[in-house]
Amino acid sequence: MTFALNDEQKMVIDTVRRFIHDELKPLEDEVEETGRLDPEKAKRIHEKSKALGLYAMNIADELGGGGLNTVDRMLCEEQFGHTTDILIRRAFGNVYEALLACQGEQVERWLKPTVRGDRTCAIAITESGAGSDAQGIKTHAKKTDSGWVLNGSKHFISDGEWSDFFLVSARTGEKDISLFMVDKGLPGFTVGKDQKMMGLRGTPHLELFFDNVPLEPVAMLGEQGQGFKMAMGVLGVVRLGQVGARAVGKACHVLELMTAYANERRQFGQRIGDFQLVQQMLADSVMEINASRLMVLHTAAMIDAGIDARDWIAMVKVHASEMLGRVVDRGVQLFGGMGFCKELPIERYYRDARVYRIFDGTSEIHRTVIARSVLKRGAALFDIHR
Ligand SMILES: Cc1cc2nc3c(=O)[nH]c(=O)nc-3n(C[C@H](O)[C@H](O)[C@H](O)COP(=O)(O)OP(=O)(O)OC[C@H]3O[C@@H](n4cnc5c(N)ncnc54)[C@H](O)[C@@H]3O)c2cc1C
Repeated sequence: MTFALNDEQKMVIDTVRRFIHDELKPLEDEVEETGRLDPEKAKRIHEKSKALGLYAMNIADELGGGGLNTVDRMLCEEQFGHTTDILIRRAFGNVYEALLACQGEQVERWLKPTVRGDRTCAIAITESGAGSDAQGIKTHAKKTDSGWVLNGSKHFISDGEWSDFFLVSARTGEKDISLFMVDKGLPGFTVGKDQKMMGLRGTPHLELFFDNVPLEPVAMLGEQGQGFKMAMGVLGVVRLGQVGARAVGKACHVLELMTAYANERRQFGQRIGDFQLVQQMLADSVMEINASRLMVLHTAAMIDAGIDARDWIAMVKVHASEMLGRVVDRGVQLFGGMGFCKELPIERYYRDARVYRIFDGTSEIHRTVIARSVLKRGAALFDIHR
């Protein structure tokens, strides 16, 4: 089995790559320095990307998206990894597949405007008391004659400032967790502070507070009690793309910079790339990047073939995020003092990479999932020939 690219795939990747180079890269320093993306510039990149058909590529074309299958989507996600989180969100969209569960009136109110980029959606699961234990949430919705009343709070919600509505997980019974689409501006819904992070400058991460927020019956996504399953379903592909494939892209970008520097920087009268200890950093990085890349593509191909890939997604999440950590660490080392200096983006990539091992399930949680699966079903479960 090979992953040789056909002409169409090459064309899409090329278009994304050029768009990132021409339109997004020039904005990166400003975002990093100011900690925000100018809304006018956000609008401009969104419009340009949409005109090229690069917005919401994960959603079926009959709904207005790009209709990519999972493998093709991962090839694009890898390219997205070459730039900054907030720029990816505004240019290419962040349309969660959970929204495909929209029915009837929900389609026009939430799904289609999100696919068009007229509305933005964030996912709100984590609470200050419930992170890895996503089923331990306290936020709850109580049934009333006119719908539901939502109470509780969330934190670390990526893109919260730009979002018009949130997919909120809430307890709807002692054992039930459901998902609601909660519009900004509803009475009792307040947005708290932007929680400053060590990296991902420009992407706001907000606290959300719900104080007797009235929700119409139509705000419930999917069936009552299916919310946890749906949220985890969404996060599966998110982990593969936004973590796995983007980690590969980020690591590639760093390796490109490392390689150029190893060829150009001279010490002791020769290129530092001629020193074997420096060569080892390059060799280890390229081997590890390719291992992660193959895992991403293999898992994507399983999904496209309708095979349950949950264990593989967990393996990709751990492998790719930890690979990225090692590659950026070598990047800083190879650049020496310049790697630590803010004049170059390497130190930024180092900071941005750290959270890959934490969000969308920590390495510890995914290792636990993988180990449980092996113990239950045997190591042969992971044999790719089966
Ligand atoms: C930048 C960023 C963006 C985020 N974006 C979003 C978002 O958009 N929406 C959203 O809902 N959430 C978001 N999150 C939350 C993120 O998913 C959680 O931070 C993550 O799941 C970990 O939860 P926690 O931070 O509460 O850590 P905890 O669960 O408190 O974990 C602390 C430590 O304990 C370990 N641990 C916990 N349980 C176990 C166990 N059973 N076995 C072994 N070790 C364990 C963990 O691995 C970790 O090392 C974001 C977080 C960050 C940092």
